[in-house]
Amino acid sequence: MPDMLVQHRVYNYVGIVIGKTRIKELFEKQHDNEECRVLLPCGKVRIASEANLRHIDRAEYNRLLSSLPHEKMMGGRSHRSGAYWECIKKTLSRFWTPSQDLQCIRIFPREHSTCQMCGHFPITWNHVLQNLQTGRELIVGSECFENYQVLTGQQVIFPKRYRQIADDLNSRWPNCVAISERDEV
Ligand SMILES: [Zn+2]
Repeated sequence: MPDMLVQHRVYNYVGIVIGKTRIKELFEKQHDNEECRVLLPCGKVRIASEANLRHIDRAEYNRLLSSLPHEKMMGGRSHRSGAYWECIKKTLSRFWTPSQDLQCIRIFPREHSTCQMCGHFPITWNHVLQNLQTGRELIVGSECFENYQVLTGQQVIFPKRYRQIADDLNSRWPNCVAISERDEV
């Protein structure tokens, strides 16, 4: 089978399809049954909907690889504006300080929710983050859930039952999640 070289239609990153995932929490489109695991040139894996991927040949892949800016190669985070990052920084500074621990206590789907990190509406996947020291909770959408970890640089604690999700997040952002030894947190 030839390499499945692709470019993401929205984020522009290029990569190789190396498999599929059925973990809905990671999906770009909640109505998909499965989505592609795309290996980026930097070695990280992103999950993408088949509908968002454009198949390209080796020559185009090589051309894009040498012409796209570095951050596009890293998975397309750069599409978010400075205002977005300012907004989640502000939310975080009110919710958490670097000496405190964060854990993800629940992940569940509920349509028409609002992300309490950035104010985005609607989100479908609700990630409930809890500050272990203050007990306060914050409901965060899928995208912010990944992004705020870049800002804090701190591991979030996951209960064992979310091991699969945790492993997948760690494969994209090495060591961003730690798994609790206890079953429930
Ligand atoms: Zn958000």
